[in-house]
Amino acid sequence: MNVYIYTLGCRLNQAESEAIAERFQQEGFRLSPWDEADLVIVNSCTVTAKAEQKARRMIRRFSEHSEVVVTGCYAELESSEVNALSRKVTVFSLKEKASLLSLPEHIVSALSSGLTLHDAILSFTRRSTDLFAFDASSFQYHSRAYLKIQDGCDNSCGYCRTTIARGPSVSLPAEEAVRRALEIEAKGFHEIMLTGVNLTMYDHDGDGLGGLIEKLLASLGGGMRLRLSSMEPDHVDDRLLDTLSDSRMQPHFHIPIQSASEKVLTIASRRYSISHVEHIIKRMRAAKDDPFIACDVIAGLPGEGEKEFEETYDFLDRNDFSAMHVFPYSPRPGTPLYGMKNRAEERVRDERAERLRELSALHSRRYLERQKGKRLEILVENGCEGTTGNYLKGSVALPEGRVPVRGMIYEGILSSIDPVVIEV
Ligand code: SF4
Repeated sequence: MNVYIYTLGCRLNQAESEAIAERFQQEGFRLSPWDEADLVIVNSCTVTAKAEQKARRMIRRFSEHSEVVVTGCYAELESSEVNALSRKVTVFSLKEKASLLSLPEHIVSALSSGLTLHDAILSFTRRSTDLFAFDASSFQYHSRAYLKIQDGCDNSCGYCRTTIARGPSVSLPAEEAVRRALEIEAKGFHEIMLTGVNLTMYDHDGDGLGGLIEKLLASLGGGMRLRLSSMEPDHVDDRLLDTLSDSRMQPHFHIPIQSASEKVLTIASRRYSISHVEHIIKRMRAAKDDPFIACDVIAGLPGEGEKEFEETYDFLDRNDFSAMHVFPYSPRPGTPLYGMKNRAEERVRDERAERLRELSALHSRRYLERQKGKRLEILVENGCEGTTGNYLKGSVALPEGRVPVRGMIYEGILSSIDPVVIEV
């Protein structure tokens, strides 16, 4: 039987999909392209209206051929809308998501007793509520391992629906995080990405993310790299920033800034100042040689007039981000800013988003050009293709007669940027 896992949204969703894929494979399912799948699992996202639209479009398409199980933040918040898309759709809430790990075993036994796939899914009893049950110990789609250490968020940023779907912040106990990391290391992985809804909100017995990373670095060997999926600025402290200078911490950081106007940040209930973000960036640059620093920015948030937009634009330009993920603001039902009228009309919002994308392209290019001739590491993911420590997608060129091994890290000179080639 064939299964296809379709994932939208954050790295946390990707990590959870990894674990689900692993369980299906263990039970003898084949991971297939979507048009050959008997069953499709959709791990949805609610961060933008576009992500939801895409989920609906794909669910409709998948359900023409396959049974479809939908989970994730969008399915959590709009379960009746998702259910109504097709009779072949079954929704699993976020609390039930971890029980997808035992669905494959149930399907195998239900099919052997004569049930159809549809009835097998309906007859499944959903039990698990453990948000950290996702502990993929082998990874089908990636050659780096994902380790989920946190879920939920205690903030209520004015535009964010994720926190409504995921609930308050919870953290994996540090000893368990270390145990899982050692298990991943023992399987031969060379890189772990730490993931969570709001990673820097990690807290175990009063120890934050910095404390956990210290423990991980002390336990893992010299060959294991750590990467952070994203760093919300409000809980980034000096203890966490101190860990970045360890050579195993990858020189790639992502900060969801959203706006660089203090006024807009206040309206959106973001709990940090722009000077704090500048402090974080300064420390990142001091810890690494020209790290890749990306950010998220939302164009047209309520309260953003011309002046506030220019402040944001100048800040992003001045701080030379290597990439900017630009989102045009769309009011999300159920969020505090939903009904707020004090915002730019769509045309202006889209023009601002376009200007930010052009700025991002300019800085990305400059970053790439600065890397030429540097000695970099690359983790091989597929054939010769891979990702460097500073998050450049490219390929590795080995001396004649040598073939790159998936999951291995090679070190070489970045000899070309169009496309990126690391020559060993
Ligand atoms: S920090 Fe704000 S934007 Fe991020 S998950 Fe929490 S509420 Fe949402």
